Amino acid sequence: MRTVDLERRGFIKLGLAAGAGLAASGALGALAQVSGRHVSRTTSNFHRPIDTACRICPAGCGIRAFVDGAGNLVTLSGISGHPINDGKICARGMAAINLHYHPERLLDPVAAVNGRGVGFTAIRNEAALSQAGRMIRDAKNAGALFVIDTEDDEPSTWRQWLDQLGVEGLVLSRPVYERARRCKVDFEAFGQPYVHANLDGARTILVFGANPFEGGPYYIAQARGIVDARVKNGAKLFVFDSRNTNTAGRADRWLPIRPGTEYAAALYLLKRLADPRNELSDAIFAGLNDETVFEYTGVKPERMHEVVEALRSSGRTSIIVGDGVFSQDQAIAIRRALALLERSSGGYPVFAQGPQDASSILDISPDRLYGRIADSSRPVFLITRRSNPVYDGGGPALAMLLRGPDKVTGHLSICSFVNETNQYADLIVPEALPLEEWGLVPAIYRSESPTWTLQRPVAKAPAAVMNGLDFINTAAGTSILANERRVRDRIAEMDWSIPTEGEANCFENHTAYPVSQDASMPGWEDLTPFSEFESPHQDGRFALVVHDSNVMNASLANAKWLAEIAHRNALAIHVDDATKLGIKQGDAVRVVHGDRRIVASAFVCQSVRPGVVALARGYGHENYGKIAAGKRWRTDDPDAWLIWWGEYGNGVNAGALTREKTIAVKVTKA
Ligand code: SF4
Repeated sequence: MRTVDLERRGFIKLGLAAGAGLAASGALGALAQVSGRHVSRTTSNFHRPIDTACRICPAGCGIRAFVDGAGNLVTLSGISGHPINDGKICARGMAAINLHYHPERLLDPVAAVNGRGVGFTAIRNEAALSQAGRMIRDAKNAGALFVIDTEDDEPSTWRQWLDQLGVEGLVLSRPVYERARRCKVDFEAFGQPYVHANLDGARTILVFGANPFEGGPYYIAQARGIVDARVKNGAKLFVFDSRNTNTAGRADRWLPIRPGTEYAAALYLLKRLADPRNELSDAIFAGLNDETVFEYTGVKPERMHEVVEALRSSGRTSIIVGDGVFSQDQAIAIRRALALLERSSGGYPVFAQGPQDASSILDISPDRLYGRIADSSRPVFLITRRSNPVYDGGGPALAMLLRGPDKVTGHLSICSFVNETNQYADLIVPEALPLEEWGLVPAIYRSESPTWTLQRPVAKAPAAVMNGLDFINTAAGTSILANERRVRDRIAEMDWSIPTEGEANCFENHTAYPVSQDASMPGWEDLTPFSEFESPHQDGRFALVVHDSNVMNASLANAKWLAEIAHRNALAIHVDDATKLGIKQGDAVRVVHGDRRIVASAFVCQSVRPGVVALARGYGHENYGKIAAGKRWRTDDPDAWLIWWGEYGNGVNAGALTREKTIAVKVTKA
């Protein structure tokens, strides 16, 4: 274990000279970035660089914050030479600065007045600590079920807190839950908790249900791996996806597959690759031929043959599988077939660490958690930390449940902003944002090289704001370790030392993730016969694919730079389907799933295959502040008065229809 030896930059002389020149010219804006340093063009003062980790998404990029003499955050950039992102930073990472200086950021706790959902009044931190302590004690004395719904990945710390308190509780850590969904599939497919693509040396890359140029687990590393493989090895990239994604659009070939038919495609590729004379078991491949595979998957046979040729001549194949596959009922079968395909064409996946107890984590799905609250005969004390279940699939029914005092007798929210869920809380406690916090961020940047990046505070939190878990610990009089102490202890346990501000802030650890070339790989006997899966029958309906976008997500819609770039969420529909339904570009269309419905504007295009419509997540907030709603207003931030996107609306919330990746919907002109 060692700190990663980042390329040290000989930038100081250049920075000084260039900075002084620019300052003298004074011709451009306020700042110049010169080889990793910033200098103010108005004052000539250098801005102090401090390295940390970005926590806006799980990629864990190394970022450098520039801070002025008064301790204000001036800007952020990527760290050159960092193993995850090598100097790059995305729009979301940059927008972390918006959250800091957000005019609607809660700087003090707020308590509900006149009942939940009516309004709040700001209170002092001491008053919030004693109110939270009282709420926790009352709930414990009443024998309440404690329910924690959190966007952090600290379920064991929450569990420890519940144990110390001596109460029964349920903990839903949403990031860990998502990891567990993948781990459970892979555990059943391979006997290993999580398997990921090994792109080193790849000459053919297939992508199923993933969009690594835009998002998903380890996507930065995967995107870099793909680019490296194409540049160094001339690797060919084939993307099976019903949407022409960011990755598909940059591939050698986009194969627009019908959603839910990946197993047939994988089996067919296997059959053509390993059994050109049709000698292998009919039991597996029965009925699978050029015609049926086209009818079933919608991918032309000649395109499939092209992939087979690439696999055959590849020498080394790598297959990236994403949540579009993990979310399917056939996920285990697909994973096995793709692993066998990969191995049959000279590739091998690697095994990574993940939750071992995936099943118990999955027992507490978001739906089940709130179902338990609805059915509970006991009072429920709810703590939400940055989560927003009403927006994210819960809808009006959950809002009613949270608003009424019958089931949820107390709701404490830890969040820096008011949202669709915590507007019904008794108390909202703002907490330190990632750039004000300590943390340790794991990521994989190459198959065998997991990395940890140190997240250190680069800005001072407002006076009344602390780490959310530290707040709850103080309020309840429990003794879980404070956040900073937990991080320092973890680093000490791993035999590292905390780097100084000027040193590389990441660590390589070759022991954290066991890697194997062949353990538990499936054989032919593990394949499920093709005939066991029915053709997806659409009954005149469309498959709605709900996807993530890089620029926006559910908790960033109030970041002004992002909202300005991305504020519409049109329903992508193929031009042939639109013509049949009489839908024109920009028309209002109704999308119905069971008793849920939304109205979106149509984006008529060729970027989705016929029979499929697509929407992104993260838009259409109803109560997440004025920036997300596109409303201009007068505040200390002069940009707030310049908001213009409200006249185009703020998109639709796909979560109002579903939390799933793909569902069947009816689409009509509204
Ligand atoms: S990819 Fe994720 S971790 Fe990296 S800068 Fe963007 S938001 Fe931050």
